[in-house]
Amino acid sequence: MKNKKQIGRYGLPLEVKYCEKCNVTNQKPTSINEYQHDRDTLQIPINFDKNNICYACKVIEEKWKGAVDWKEREKELIELCDRYKNFKGQYNCLVGGSGGKDSAFQSHMLKYKYGMRPLTVTWAPHVYTDIGWKNFQNWINIGGFDNYLFTPNGKIHRYLTRRATINILHPYQPFIIGQKNFAAKLAYSFNIPLIFYGESVSDYGTKLGNAKQFSTKIEDSHPGFTQDPISSMNIKDVKLGGDPISFHIEQGYNINDFECFLPLDVNKFKEKKIETHFLGYYLKWVPQENFYYAVENTGFQVNNERVEGTYQKYAGIDDKIEGFFYYTAHIKFGYGRAMSDSTMEVRNGHITKEEGLGLIKQFDGEFPKKHEKDFLEYISMTREKFDELCDKFRPDHIWERKSNRWELKNPPWEYFEKKNK
Ligand SMILES: [Zn+2]
Repeated sequence: MKNKKQIGRYGLPLEVKYCEKCNVTNQKPTSINEYQHDRDTLQIPINFDKNNICYACKVIEEKWKGAVDWKEREKELIELCDRYKNFKGQYNCLVGGSGGKDSAFQSHMLKYKYGMRPLTVTWAPHVYTDIGWKNFQNWINIGGFDNYLFTPNGKIHRYLTRRATINILHPYQPFIIGQKNFAAKLAYSFNIPLIFYGESVSDYGTKLGNAKQFSTKIEDSHPGFTQDPISSMNIKDVKLGGDPISFHIEQGYNINDFECFLPLDVNKFKEKKIETHFLGYYLKWVPQENFYYAVENTGFQVNNERVEGTYQKYAGIDDKIEGFFYYTAHIKFGYGRAMSDSTMEVRNGHITKEEGLGLIKQFDGEFPKKHEKDFLEYISMTREKFDELCDKFRPDHIWERKSNRWELKNPPWEYFEKKNK
């Protein structure tokens, strides 16, 4: 245990620091077990070494500095695919996604370069944007895939999204949970033995014992990435949107209404020998290159304007609610969308650290005005109530109120300016 005094709200380090290489804040949380997530949950922050370099930078540096033999990794992928080539059944692998750049890249490579027979599956966004719906259609119709689109009960999804916003200021949590488990459930129903996920989570600073695949062994995995997240829990104690299922039942909902948000029973993975692999372990995964690949091969189109809260036009553009995921992360952790996007691009060498810092200063924490109305209607809340709620989630060690507005106590541009003096 660390000294309690050094730990601030949400279990984050009291002293705010930023990575010397990519600017990411040491407040950035990695994944946790969302089925236990409530108001009191402590996050697992990204690891910084003694030179203040983040774990994601280390992983990415290893990828590009020759520590990874990509020829060897591709050979491993081909061997993995070969094991399933003769699998009897219409599909021999499954790829989840929305038709965005990453799922487009993944499914297209697997089908057209490695000769696999993927079924693509989609957990619908809360509220489709026009460009998101178009890209989804193009993925299927121009890219050329069978797809299964699942839309969860909108009443339940809205209810959980509202609860998750009120309880843990995380409007995206029910979507993330649902989407994450959906692929495995479909694989089980369709008798598909192999699931491909996209980039390895270690690229974003989550330490996995086994970077290749999900595991049931706790030493190989991470609380947010285990195949068995609710094993020892009583189903009524399992939390969704920050409340236990027993609470939802008290509100008059039926336990079956929440089934699609729960994970596939771990015994069912074993029963059908379903394997789960990160394609990003086997292939060089560069978000910007996936984007060019998707434009070329699946008719992917960019947003006609900059995405609010950041500077880019091509990532996370299919759901009207997504901007609020980043906006609320900026409130809770000082980790906004421009920081999320720019730190990745700095690590991959597309922009410099200084350019990244400028983009963070300019765009991080910008309110997603364009979809404000849709979002507030979705969670049945007024703007005043939402702002009030946000203020309750601002940690003292990150924010201060100055002449009637909230400011970061120690923003990255000031942090580096002080350090470089
Ligand atoms: Zn870093």
